[in-house]
Amino acid sequence: MTATLTAAMTRSAALEQMIARDASQFRVLTGDRPTGPLHLGHYFGTLQNRVRLQDAGAGLFVLIADYQVLIDRDRAESPGEVAIGQVLDYLAIGVAPDRSVIFAHSAVPALNQLILPFLSLVSVPELSRNPTVKDEIAHSRQSSVSGLMFTYPVHQAADILFCKANLVPVGQDQLPHVELTRQVARRFNERYGPVFPVPDALLSAAPLLLGTDGAKMSKSRGNAIALRATADQTARLIRGAKTDSISHVSYDPAARPQVSSLVLLAALCAGRDPVAVADEIGGGGAARLKAAVTEAVNERFAPVRARRAELAGDPGYARQVLREGCDRARAIGDATLGEVRAAMGMSY
Ligand code: ATP
Ligand code: MG
Repeated sequence: MTATLTAAMTRSAALEQMIARDASQFRVLTGDRPTGPLHLGHYFGTLQNRVRLQDAGAGLFVLIADYQVLIDRDRAESPGEVAIGQVLDYLAIGVAPDRSVIFAHSAVPALNQLILPFLSLVSVPELSRNPTVKDEIAHSRQSSVSGLMFTYPVHQAADILFCKANLVPVGQDQLPHVELTRQVARRFNERYGPVFPVPDALLSAAPLLLGTDGAKMSKSRGNAIALRATADQTARLIRGAKTDSISHVSYDPAARPQVSSLVLLAALCAGRDPVAVADEIGGGGAARLKAAVTEAVNERFAPVRARRAELAGDPGYARQVLREGCDRARAIGDATLGEVRAAMGMSY
């Protein structure tokens, strides 16, 4: 485990204590790219935490990061349609539009304008040594790397800071970006006066859920189990998941990442300890493990899937939720940009 991950997990444990004492001190923002259906990695890495924080009284902003689709694609395919599908996923898992804001960053001009002063606060070497960006370049489907690939973490700083969020529930891949956001907030405050909080990343018990091929579960890598998948699709995907040559099932994430990720998935779905789940399956081997994971996923997500199907019957509702969220985000963005320009001496 890297030192960065260990430090982030320690910090997350301290944050959990603060959340337990008073969640209303937190304003939460996390986003997802509308590059495809949300999957189990999203759910256990971040979505579950978002809903938990909302329900405990934190202010929640959920961002559809539509401009970010262009990081590693020439164009966004049906962005409107994918975004509405994403809103349906959010509503189905329990994001409450009367308390929380679901919005798309392309619809908030003031948010995007923050990128300009923020870019002046980071150096080119800082942008080019970001490990997540390096990994995404390695998996990019574009023939050359765009300027957006290097600068999107600064866009994320604008996403987080436009609403002055102080808590960002994310997966492990986002830690370098949250660290950059912290730098931007600190440097802005030092240079122009206190405007922004310095936000914290909040990790879950599954900061890096693996997909069916043993790499990070990702929309773009064809290895994901979608929240909205049917029970049969789920069974098929899990049947095809990679395991290893040891037949006895154990929970050892460092030595046996694929088997352990399946064990963890079953444990997360059932709210159980992964070691106990592995011990129970033991000599049953990969076939028994896969059957147990399939059953646990399908059972856990049956109500979410039913709710989503119901909501999908009225796409006008999801569209209205998104439109209202964008309106609320625009009002907040205008206020923050006003403060930023005043702090910079640029209110005319
Ligand atoms: P893409 O492949 O298009 O980049 P993605 O699956 O990586 O899609 P993102 O929209 O980039 O999804 O990520 C949204 C949020 O979900 C981030 O906070 C990210 O850390 C989290 N997340 C994504 N995949 C996982 C995973 N496998 N495990 C834990 N968290 C994840
Ligand atoms: Mg991603």
